[in-house]
Amino acid sequence: MLNFTIGPVQSSREVCAIGAEQVPYFRTPEFSAVMLENEKFILEYARAPEGSRAVFMTNSSTGSMEAVVMNCFTESDKVLIVDGGSFGHRFVELCEIYGIPYEALRLEHGRSLTKERLYEYDGQSFTGLLVNIDETSTGVLYDSEMIGDFCKKNGIFYVCDCVSSFLADPFDMTHCGANVMITGSQKALACPPGVSAIILTPRALERVIHAKVKSMYFNLADSLKNMERGQTPFTPAVGILLQINARLREIKKNGGADAEILRVEAQADDFRRKIRELPFEFVSESPANGVTPVHPIRGDAYRIFEILKDEYSIWVCPNGGDMKHTIFRVGHIGHLSHEDNTVLINALKDIYSRGLM
Ligand SMILES: *Cc1c(COP(=O)(O)O)cnc(C)c1O
Repeated sequence: MLNFTIGPVQSSREVCAIGAEQVPYFRTPEFSAVMLENEKFILEYARAPEGSRAVFMTNSSTGSMEAVVMNCFTESDKVLIVDGGSFGHRFVELCEIYGIPYEALRLEHGRSLTKERLYEYDGQSFTGLLVNIDETSTGVLYDSEMIGDFCKKNGIFYVCDCVSSFLADPFDMTHCGANVMITGSQKALACPPGVSAIILTPRALERVIHAKVKSMYFNLADSLKNMERGQTPFTPAVGILLQINARLREIKKNGGADAEILRVEAQADDFRRKIRELPFEFVSESPANGVTPVHPIRGDAYRIFEILKDEYSIWVCPNGGDMKHTIFRVGHIGHLSHEDNTVLINALKDIYSRGLM
């Protein structure tokens, strides 16, 4: 199997080997040390400002999006949500559920957020902004620095869902001024799904510590208190946290976050160059490094996904909704090589020559 989806993605051999071992008991100094090292690495790779902290949640990243909405905002906030696809829209649904006043900045799918569009909301007493830096459904990368400048100018609390962009696209939390960053284990971290990390800067810690949260599991103040000693309030996905540790160390050994981002970028460039020989169009403005959405000029996108899966054992990522038959996505994160891209391109050429598209 060759997996070009955008999560779960392929893991390194070392990460897979940990998954084959027995899971240890976790209320130990040894496991606490692993957790504190995970925190140190993740803060470093996101370039979090001094005094920031990270918690590791045993839930998929949507759980962390929900936890952030619950712990950082109340009915007296007014938040702006960049709604450019299904992940942006998830923040809209969460604010509906929790009664957080919001306005959705709707973007046509595949379109980037321009400064002109954003500054239509300038000076309108927004207190928060929620954005998925890579809107994974369309592969559009928003400009975290440009949005950060807007937030600084307006004194806005800035939340970045970097679930698919962390370790794939450049991101500097200190420089762009983000107050919260969310990421997950199964995207560029290239581990199994089940764990999500939330980074909180001092300004975010202030909000979280004073939050009156009606939840036991999603009480981030409780998670933070436990994390002071490298622990979690409840049993975490111990095995995945050990795999995350191996992966974070692996990245360090290979030159750190910047080197990993360059590797993903080269993986994306290689694919985008090779696919030009085939009848496909690119569909997104300012594409993120992690994923390329392509539109087959001939043939049905979903059918191509099925043929690749059933006849070639290659997985690409189908799109849902009204993009199901026109677009599929090819991921560049996880343990993939340029040779793997060639295998995929050759399979597509074969499908093409068989007259199936
Ligand atoms: C994958 C992803 C998520 C979370 O998805 P889960 O299925 O909950 O892990 C959230 N936001 C973005 C931008 C994503 O790419």
